[in-house]
Amino acid sequence: MGAPPSAAGVPHVLVVEDEPDMRMLLSDNLEFEGYEVTNVQSAEDALTWLERHTCALVILDLMLPGMSGIELCGRLRAQGMRLPILMLTARAQESDRVFGLDVGADDYITKPFGVAEFLARVRAHLRRTTPRAESSEEIAFGDVKVHIRRRLVTRRDRRIRLSTREFELLRYLVAHRGEVVSREQLLRDVWGYGDQAVTRTVDNYIAKLRSHLEPRPHDPKYIVTVHGSGYQLLV
Ligand code: CA
Repeated sequence: MGAPPSAAGVPHVLVVEDEPDMRMLLSDNLEFEGYEVTNVQSAEDALTWLERHTCALVILDLMLPGMSGIELCGRLRAQGMRLPILMLTARAQESDRVFGLDVGADDYITKPFGVAEFLARVRAHLRRTTPRAESSEEIAFGDVKVHIRRRLVTRRDRRIRLSTREFELLRYLVAHRGEVVSREQLLRDVWGYGDQAVTRTVDNYIAKLRSHLEPRPHDPKYIVTVHGSGYQLLV
């Protein structure tokens, strides 16, 4: 139904919740709505999962054993991750709500909540972050295929697992392919950093993408360096 991206791809939702009944309720309903769902029980597991995978939205319980939902949210935002985060809590105190939003949550739902309302909020956040038209396509270069909407990258028809940041960087390069993009532009638009950012970070991620996608990563053919200016995706 209203859940973007369209039939070509299924949005992947990460659920971080330690209570088994609540976890099952959330994931069953999300799956019933047609989303792909991954469940983890702790913030630590969520961090580990996000190192290797991408998702379209995170459902994050505030009260977790070990690292709290608020701390996880703060860390993800500090890493520059911009995907929507919906926080859940059993507590209704205004201070928690404000704190959650302060550390970068997009929305806050207090338990108990109705399933219909929960799903409506999920749809609203996914709609807000639907990829723009220019990034809804598929492109191929060399033996690499990139399906932006499905967040799927393959090389010789085998899936390449990119981290969320690596994928966001690739998506940006694809959307701006043929253009020279500066490190500062990448930091601003992909990382969301201000002036204090370290451009070396961009270089490191470009190197990672090259190692995944280039036939000869040290002599790149597609993701090229434009000396003194930045990078350019030539496809
Ligand atoms: Ca909990």
